[in-house]
Amino acid sequence: MSNLERDPRESLAGGPAAVAEQPVHELLEGRDVMLGPRGTLVTRTLPNKDRRMVGAWCFVDHYGPEDTTGTLGMQVPPHPHTGLQTVSWLVEGDVLHRDSLGSLQLIRPGQLNLMTAGRGIAHSEESPADRPARLHGVQLWVALPHGDRWGDPHFEHHGDLPGFSAGGVDVTVVMGELADAASPARAYSPLVGAEAVLGAGSSIELPLRPDFEYAALTLAGTVVVDGEPLGRGPMLYLGTGRATLQLAAAVPGRLLLLGGEPFAEQLVMWWNFVGRSHEEIVRMREEWMSGSAFGDVHGYAGDPLPAPPMPTSPLRPRGRRRA
Ligand code: MN
Repeated sequence: MSNLERDPRESLAGGPAAVAEQPVHELLEGRDVMLGPRGTLVTRTLPNKDRRMVGAWCFVDHYGPEDTTGTLGMQVPPHPHTGLQTVSWLVEGDVLHRDSLGSLQLIRPGQLNLMTAGRGIAHSEESPADRPARLHGVQLWVALPHGDRWGDPHFEHHGDLPGFSAGGVDVTVVMGELADAASPARAYSPLVGAEAVLGAGSSIELPLRPDFEYAALTLAGTVVVDGEPLGRGPMLYLGTGRATLQLAAAVPGRLLLLGGEPFAEQLVMWWNFVGRSHEEIVRMREEWMSGSAFGDVHGYAGDPLPAPPMPTSPLRPRGRRRA
């Protein structure tokens, strides 16, 4: 997935001032973003005007469910990333990933595609011609800490993730650890990403880490999170200081739980780059446009995405949260 906006807003994220130091319920409304001229409609809840990160999670796009019969489905041409990991997770459908390391990987529901950009990588994502009609999933970005952000790019596919079941709820641990289950996916800061599938009348108490901040996103149905019904659309930010979290559902539901140690560094995010300064972003953009640093993505039927023009005013720190 790419940030395909023609005029992407620069956003600064991170820093302890943006962390709620107690349990809270903060509803973060998403905004609708169209990926490409006839592309996929996504609901973007991070970065949000009120809150830019949850742990190291810095970007959350939720798309579908949509019927791709008679359309091209998802078509995201080759584009670059720096300083982040992309976490691809499907509820329905198939997506084919290609990258400049030569990876070619079909992802299906319940599997994880994890791409660590490090100092730079390029990739494309497409609906394969032969596929289920319905498409539904999320793409998430995890910011890399400074000590890892210039590392070698690499790609992981995990087809079999650990989890647990209780009270009619099946939990899959996608990233990090939850209860006694630990994902094999490589993470660079303490965090968790997990999916809970709730049957009608089910409930569960999840063990949380009080030092983590958390947020919940409903992917399907309605899930009662800490007593608050949460449907598709907004993200419910839960703050820190929690040892447990209650989930329940009267109807079948599906929920994504994201959390992590509050990310201490400030970021500058622009288009598909995560950096630390205006100058870095300018250099990353120039390296993509000159075709020198990211390598080629082979096999995608279409041209790479050009970067949008830089904004006329410099990208500069403007505080950790918008007022
Ligand atoms: Mn991407």
